Amino acid sequence: MSEVLKTGAELPAQCAGLAVGAEHKWPQPLIEGFLRFRDNHFPSDDIEYLRLFAEGQKPKFLIVGCCDSRVDPALIFNCAPGELFVVRNVANIVPPNEARIGHHGTTAAIEYGVCNLGVEHIVVLGHEHCGGIQNLLQTRGATNPDSFIDDWMRLVESARVSVEREFADATEEVRRRECEQRAILVSLKNLLTFPWIAQRVAERTLRIHGWYFDIKQGQLLGYNETTGAFEPL
Ligand SMILES: [Zn+2]
Repeated sequence: MSEVLKTGAELPAQCAGLAVGAEHKWPQPLIEGFLRFRDNHFPSDDIEYLRLFAEGQKPKFLIVGCCDSRVDPALIFNCAPGELFVVRNVANIVPPNEARIGHHGTTAAIEYGVCNLGVEHIVVLGHEHCGGIQNLLQTRGATNPDSFIDDWMRLVESARVSVEREFADATEEVRRRECEQRAILVSLKNLLTFPWIAQRVAERTLRIHGWYFDIKQGQLLGYNETTGAFEPL
């Protein structure tokens, strides 16, 4: 049993369920998963994490991905610890450079990856059957003051509007896929509104990419600027 550290911090009464006791239920599959992970990565002769600890992280790739549980960048790209710097949010959106009000979690992560870690590539990774995009299409861009999702998804409202205009007679499936891909392009444009990104892209020390994971086909598509289409990589 490891030593119990007491922080001295007190939680509100509503958090009483966090206390460890006979009634407390840990999410057991996660603990079992951690033990398997530890066995794989922390054998006595394995120095992978010791090296990462000593040298610090130096990832070359920053991924802006969706929260979707099926689209884990480290799994999809078969990457090892330390290789990817990842920020995930609903529908993998990059907000534009805007006034410094509010809490800009995604922007802060991108700034850290670019300015502090010096990543060489940013990949905006969209995917098929995105719940965030589905929400945007269903609400038709209207916002419910009680929903954080509605307001967040309005960042890619221009993608929805263009799809509704150009694909009015298409099936819901086609419109959603188009909207998922066009939203990626909105994020690519937004990336360039940050001067510390635009400058590095102009100097070719940083490259930005729009990718799309087709869950059903198990296919990765990349946006080709020349053809203006997402094509298999
Ligand atoms: Zn999604």
